[in-house]
Amino acid sequence: MSATNIIHSIPSDPLTGAISVPVYQTSTFIQEAPGVNKGFDYARSNNPTRKVLEDVVAQLEGGHSGFAFATGLAAIDSVLKLLSAGDEIIAVDDIYGGAYRLFTHVYEKLGIKVHYLDTTDAENVANKISSKTKLVWIESPTNPTLKVSDIQEISKIAKSVNALLVVDNTFASPIAQKPISLGADIIIHSGTKYIGGHSDLVAGLVVAKTQELSEKIKFIQNASGGILGPWDCFLTIRGIETLELRYKKQCDNAFAVAAFLVNHEAVKDVYFPGLVSHKNHEIAKRQQNGLFGGIVSFTLKEDTQEAANQFVTNTHYFKLAESLGGVKSLLCHPPQMTHASIPREKRLQSGIKDSLIRLSCGIEDSQDLIHDLSQAFKAINKTKEAGYVKQ
Ligand SMILES: *Cc1c(COP(=O)(O)O)cnc(C)c1O
Repeated sequence: MSATNIIHSIPSDPLTGAISVPVYQTSTFIQEAPGVNKGFDYARSNNPTRKVLEDVVAQLEGGHSGFAFATGLAAIDSVLKLLSAGDEIIAVDDIYGGAYRLFTHVYEKLGIKVHYLDTTDAENVANKISSKTKLVWIESPTNPTLKVSDIQEISKIAKSVNALLVVDNTFASPIAQKPISLGADIIIHSGTKYIGGHSDLVAGLVVAKTQELSEKIKFIQNASGGILGPWDCFLTIRGIETLELRYKKQCDNAFAVAAFLVNHEAVKDVYFPGLVSHKNHEIAKRQQNGLFGGIVSFTLKEDTQEAANQFVTNTHYFKLAESLGGVKSLLCHPPQMTHASIPREKRLQSGIKDSLIRLSCGIEDSQDLIHDLSQAFKAINKTKEAGYVKQ
């Protein structure tokens, strides 16, 4: 979808001509006679502001229908409710921590088994899949080491047993990657990240490929009720207006930052799918529309939490915070923040070293971001020279 099509997929208000989408802050809708209404009866079931967002997101991802939820996890939860006890899921081993918690501590208890695999090798999925597998769940690229899985290849394997392929498309965004065109059945997004794009809301989105799946998700959305409120729908729509512009700038900044890091003497490894040296670069290039995302992770030669701590507390533009995808650059230290709940040994197994730092590049000028990182590296040395070691 071109920038023009994205912007003009957002309708103006047919009632008043308002060019931006009105916020219908209402819980209910007056009926002419019982059951006779203008398509809306109660705001959990539907709301005109939410409907615009849901329609726009469905177009953006090329699916039948879209659904807006209170958070990304509420969106994930709605998809899991398609399952019944005894069903099995195959999931990427590097899955978002919150999804792991929901799968393991809520759904396994209800009789759903989850197998975590390295899905960057589609063979692993082929070897594990069975008639019990009802969902194959991948993220691509993953967080924080940016592993990329071949969506098209995995979709063929899922189809061989009639399992649904779900893709968490949060990191790639609909600008870089169109999972439905690659064979996915359902897409989920944390709208909190690139789609909202301004670090000012939490939201979740589901897009279903077919009418049949759309009807099931619609039923669950209304039955469970985890909807996004009209004001946050409005903010998410406003975010979508500039999504392409922001995402491309973030990709450019990430590229510049990755190139700088690769050559820095204090840096050990750089994880960025745009680098030819990245393990899954070829798949990323094929499936991500020439865009590699705004996230760059790296480790320090001095592979300690202390060194990472000194770095992340000495940046100026990169703000130390969880989350990603907003216009302001953020950084985090996954071992102490987003991935702190995973035991160190398990973290190391999945490549999350003690000094791993994740950068979410915003839309600032790339030379300012590079300068910021450059001075933060010097700060590590300064604190060391001063004989100061943070405990
Ligand atoms: C943040 C995130 C989620 C969860 O979304 P929330 O809006 O925080 O509930 C799910 N998947 C990925 C890849 C994420 O980054």
